[in-house]
Amino acid sequence: LTPVPSDIAISRAQTPKPVDQLAEEIGLLPEELEAYGRSKAKVRLSLLDRLHKQPDGKYVLVAGITPTPLGEGKSTVTIGLVQALSAHLQLNSFACLRQPSQGPTFGVKGGAAGGGYAQVIPMEEFNLHLTGDIHAITAANNLVAAAIDARMLHEATQTDKALFNRLVPSVNGARRFSPIQISRLRRLGINKIDPASLSPEEISTFVRLDLDPSKITWQRVLDTNDRFLRKITVGQASTEKGRARETGFDIAVASEIMAILALADSLVDMKNRLARMVVGTSRSGQPITAEDLGVSGALAVLMKDAIKPTLMQTLEGTPVFVHAGPFANIAHGNSSVLADKLALKLVGRDGFVVTEAGFGADIGMEKFFNIKCRASGLRPNAVVLVATVRALKMHGGGPNVSAGAPLPKEYIDENLSLVAGGCRSNLRKQIQIAHLFGVPVVVALNVFKTDTQAEIDLVCEIAKECGASEAVPCHHWAQGGRGSIQLAKAVHEAASRTSDFQFLYNTEMPIVEKIRTIAQKVYGADDIELTPEAKAKIDYYNQQGYGSLPICMAKTHLSLSHMPDKKGVPTGFVLPIRDVRASIGAGFIYPLVGTMSTMPGLPTRPCFYDIDLDPVTEEITGLF
Ligand code: ADP
Repeated sequence: LTPVPSDIAISRAQTPKPVDQLAEEIGLLPEELEAYGRSKAKVRLSLLDRLHKQPDGKYVLVAGITPTPLGEGKSTVTIGLVQALSAHLQLNSFACLRQPSQGPTFGVKGGAAGGGYAQVIPMEEFNLHLTGDIHAITAANNLVAAAIDARMLHEATQTDKALFNRLVPSVNGARRFSPIQISRLRRLGINKIDPASLSPEEISTFVRLDLDPSKITWQRVLDTNDRFLRKITVGQASTEKGRARETGFDIAVASEIMAILALADSLVDMKNRLARMVVGTSRSGQPITAEDLGVSGALAVLMKDAIKPTLMQTLEGTPVFVHAGPFANIAHGNSSVLADKLALKLVGRDGFVVTEAGFGADIGMEKFFNIKCRASGLRPNAVVLVATVRALKMHGGGPNVSAGAPLPKEYIDENLSLVAGGCRSNLRKQIQIAHLFGVPVVVALNVFKTDTQAEIDLVCEIAKECGASEAVPCHHWAQGGRGSIQLAKAVHEAASRTSDFQFLYNTEMPIVEKIRTIAQKVYGADDIELTPEAKAKIDYYNQQGYGSLPICMAKTHLSLSHMPDKKGVPTGFVLPIRDVRASIGAGFIYPLVGTMSTMPGLPTRPCFYDIDLDPVTEEITGLF
C-alpha cells in the first residue's frame, strides 16, 4: 500500500499461520515443538542430535555502517532478505534475531521486529514478553544477587560450626557433600569427601567465602529503563544488622547471564558457564563464583527453557528464530549460537541462515567473528553491510540530528557530495574491516522515500569501487521480499564463493596486544593508552588464568573512535582504556573505553505515551 501503513497496522493485517503448521513445513517433528500460544513455539535442542549428519546451510551476517540517529535498518534488511530468499527465490532460509529488551520498547527506540513490509509477526508478542526468556534471566540474575547478600550476612553472624551444619545438612543421620560442594572443596585443594574428616581450619575455609563487600561486581537487574536504580543502598532494614551497602541495577539484557544464553552451545555448556560466573572477590583476592555460592544448579533450572530458541515467522510466513539479546558494548550483541546452529541444520546444504549483529560492523561484526564464531566453531560465508543514504550523508559531513527532531534539508534533498563523502569514508572502512576476516561483503542500501536515483546509483558505484562484491538498493520496507530480490541474488552469489575466514587475533596473545590489534586494525587508532587501574586489572586476570579469553570492547557505537561525535573515519587518535572487566562465565574480557550506561533512562516523552490497549478488541496501538 502507498503510503506504507504503520508497522503495527501491517503486522495486524496479516494472520500468522499456526506455529505447528510452520514447524511442519520446515521439517520439525511434533515432539520437537513446545507451543506458547498459537504463533510462537520453543524448539527442543534434541533437534541438533536428530539432524547432526545434515550439512549446514550458508551462514550470512547482517552488519551495518556506524549507526546514526537517522536509523539504518539492519533488522528490516535481515527480514526482507529472508523473505526474498524463501518466498521469491524458493531457497530455504531462516532469520535469527535478538529478542528486544522492554527498555527501548517503552523508552526511546521502540521495538525491533523490523518494519514496513519486512517484519516478524505478531510484532507485539515479539516486542513484549515473547516466551519469558528475559524474565527467566532476571530471576536467575537476582537469585545470585540475593545469594551474595544473604551469604555475607550469615557468614558475619554465625560460627564456622553453625555455618557448616547448615550448609551440609544431615541426611539419614550422616552428612554428605553435594556435588557442587565437592567441586568447591577440590578447588580449595581439600581432597576429602567425608564431611566428618575435615579439620577445623578446612571447615572454616570451606564455609567462609569471605566476600569483600567493596569488590562485589554482581548487580541486580530489571528489564525497565529505571534510571533511579543506577545507584542504590540495600540492606537498610534493621534485620540486616547494619550491613547496608551501595550497589545498583542494570537493565536485564546487560546481565552476564544473557551473554551466556547467547554463547552456550548446549545445556551442559550453559550450566558450566553459569557455574564459572565470577560475582566478586574474597578479602584475600580470590575470585568467588556462582558455584561457590551453591547457586549454579538452581540457575540452570531457572534457565532450562530459556535455552530453547523461539520459532516465529515473517510477514511472508518464512521461519525466524528469536533468541537472546545481549548488550553490544559490555557484551557481544549477537543472537544465540544455538539458534544459528539449529537453523543451519534445518535449512540444509543449499539454504541460508541470516543472522544480525548489533551496532556498526566495527563492533557487532568484529564480536560476531572473534567471540561468537570462536565459541560456536561456525564459519560465515558472507556479510551484508547495511547503509542508508541519510546515514552516509551524516558520515560525509552532514549536520548532526537528534532522534525524532525534524530532518535538515541535506537529508531530504539530493546531495551527491555528502553521499560520496560518506561512502568514501565510513562505508569503505567498514567494508575493509569485513575483509580483514576474509569474508565477502554485499552492500545493502536500505532505500528511503527521500532518496534520489542519482544518490542510489552513486552509493552502489562507490561501494563496488571500495571492494564490495556487490552493492544493491533494497525496497523491502515498502515492498516486502519482492523489494529485496536483487539483494537475495547478490547474497546467493557471494556466499557461493569460497570464503577465507580468519580470526583477527590469536587468543594466546597477551591481553594488551589483543586490545591494541582491535584498536589499530578495526578502529584505526594510532595506539591505546591504559590507566593504571586497567593495567592492574589485566595483571590480576593474567594471574587468575583468564589471559587467553577473547576481547569484547565496550566502546561507543556512534563512531569508529571513542568520540561519539566524530563521524566518517576518525584518524590520529589514541584509544583510552579506562578500566578492564571480565565476564568469566560468558568467556570474555571487556575493556571499557569511556563510560558505558548499563541502565538507560527514560526521556521526557517515552514511547509508552503512545502505547494503549483497546479493552474490547484487546488490540494494542502505538508499538513500532
Ligand atoms: P536497526 O536494526 O538498524 O536498529 P531497524 O531495522 O529496527 O533498524 O529499523 C529502525 C526503524 O526504521 C524501524 O521502525 C523501521 O520501520 C524504520 N525503517 C527501516 N527501514 C526503513 C525504510 N526504508 N523506510 C522507512 N522506514 C524505515
